[in-house]
Amino acid sequence: MKAGTAQKISNAILSCIAGFASFVFSLIALLYLTEFDEKIVAAVVAGAFCLLISYVASERPNSESARALAALGDRLLAVEDGDLVSPAPDSVRRTMPKLAAAVDALFTEVRSSIANAHALGMYDPVTSLPNRLHFRSEADKLLGEAAEGTSAAMLFVDLDRFKMVNDSLGHARGDQLLIMVANRLRVVVNAEFDGSARSRPLVARLAGDEFTIFFPEIVSVAEIERIARRIVAAISESFELSSHSIDIGASVGLAVAPDHGTSVESLMRAADIAMYRAKSAGGGQYWQFNATLAAEHQEQIDTEKALTEALQRDEFVLAFQPQMSLVTGELCGAEALLRWNHPRDGMRFPASFIPVAERTGLIAEIGEWVVSEVAGTLSAWRASGFGDRLSFNISPRQVERPDFLFRLRQTFADAEVPLSMIELEFTESAAMQVSEAILEDIAGLRAQGARIAIDDFGTGYSNIARLRTMPLDRVKLDPSFIVDIENDEKARVIVQALIQLIRGVGCEVVAEAVETVAQADILRAMGCDTVQGFIFAPAMFEEEFLAWTASGRRADKSVA
Ligand code: C2E
Ligand code: MG
Ligand code: MG
Repeated sequence: MKAGTAQKISNAILSCIAGFASFVFSLIALLYLTEFDEKIVAAVVAGAFCLLISYVASERPNSESARALAALGDRLLAVEDGDLVSPAPDSVRRTMPKLAAAVDALFTEVRSSIANAHALGMYDPVTSLPNRLHFRSEADKLLGEAAEGTSAAMLFVDLDRFKMVNDSLGHARGDQLLIMVANRLRVVVNAEFDGSARSRPLVARLAGDEFTIFFPEIVSVAEIERIARRIVAAISESFELSSHSIDIGASVGLAVAPDHGTSVESLMRAADIAMYRAKSAGGGQYWQFNATLAAEHQEQIDTEKALTEALQRDEFVLAFQPQMSLVTGELCGAEALLRWNHPRDGMRFPASFIPVAERTGLIAEIGEWVVSEVAGTLSAWRASGFGDRLSFNISPRQVERPDFLFRLRQTFADAEVPLSMIELEFTESAAMQVSEAILEDIAGLRAQGARIAIDDFGTGYSNIARLRTMPLDRVKLDPSFIVDIENDEKARVIVQALIQLIRGVGCEVVAEAVETVAQADILRAMGCDTVQGFIFAPAMFEEEFLAWTASGRRADKSVA
């Protein structure tokens, strides 16, 4: 029998009892009680009994509701233990069916919202590929499930020149390009693994223009190398993007388990290191991780750490290399060059640490040290009668700092050194890339007396038009031009043309790394204004430099 029916029957019985008791009390009162008062009391007792029985009968459904509500409370509290699946309790469904349906609908809604949120947190919204978190947990799982002796592989794919597309065509187009790249990656991987019984590779977008592919089961390293080559080729083909033909490329790093790592994290690190090698070798290629790369990487990490400590321990020092006028044969300035007095290795040259400092961004802090050291040095030299100009090198990473020139001005003002005593050397690429706003700032500095030079001209990407528009005083020819001018006619033709071009736009020409009298003679004949090189003097530390300048300030007479 259904509970509802049983309840109805029991309520009916209770009502009958109430009616019968009331009848019995009334009969007793009529037949046996003589006093009017006694009859009244009997009637009240009969009525109260009847009322009590009716109340009990009417209260029965309410106590059922109370029990149902208590059961519902228990059900809701079960959420604390993670129960989002159990339906509303039967007692609620029986007594309050609408409430039960609403509770069930609510839990269904919560479950689907959680599933959606989960999906959103697992996939990259642009490419719909798994994101970093999802990739790591899935790859972890696949690696853990792999049978003993299985080889796995990790590819790290980083796009070349993606930032340029994003910057020039906007983020919406950048996103479109990422979708196309993701599709090409899928196509390459699917072409290899469709129809294969092996576990399928996992393609993911880690962040920005970085993608990873995890291969849980590979046949051989050669197989993955072939796929890496295909990926490089696929990404190097032009992308058609809203009537633009876009050429980017991919740098790919490859790591194999168990040789290069046995966890997803170590494989990703190894593939990342290999990818960096591919990128620094020019991009558009793949590299496989190996012990040499690991050692180089460790060396870089050590250098980075040591550079940070070097700043704190004041281990940097400046050397000064004189510059000579080819017209007068006199000293006409000097360049401050950075040295690192390494506690173990001794004096280290910039080539061994500037690239790491550039890559890590530490060069900005080191550059600030150079600026304040130059200001302090010039302040002291000026007091003892030195009146020449000192040039120093500026890294592109320094120029990127918005307050760079403001702070530079402040530093020299605080040291009471006029800006006419300094020259800023920008590398060619920095000079070509700086924004219009920074160019204006540089022009302001120049108007206040600072001299502006482009360093190592002719090796990078030179926008000749910049020579006309950039606030500029001197251009330093790259040493690679000077090396061959004695013996190579073509080198002489190029240097002559460059000198004419530079002088034609109103700038002075400085030739660097001049080592022989013959080179200096040729350069003078070609109209070069200034030379810097071992023929004149090497870079010297302060004391030696001051002694050198005090002892004549003249070049070897045969050069002048
Ligand atoms: P750079 O600014 O072009 O400096 C000229 C380099 O040529 C110096 O090397 C100098 O010692 C070297 N040199 C001078 N004369 C000769 C010569 O006759 N023959 C040869 N073979 N080389 C000569 P150094 O001091 O090793 O500096 C190398 C580069 O490191 C510099 O090239 C510059 O790009 C960078 N650098 C040096 N100091 C700083 C600095 O304070 N900040 C930044 N950002 N870069 C710096
Ligand atoms: Mg320089
Ligand atoms: Mg140079």
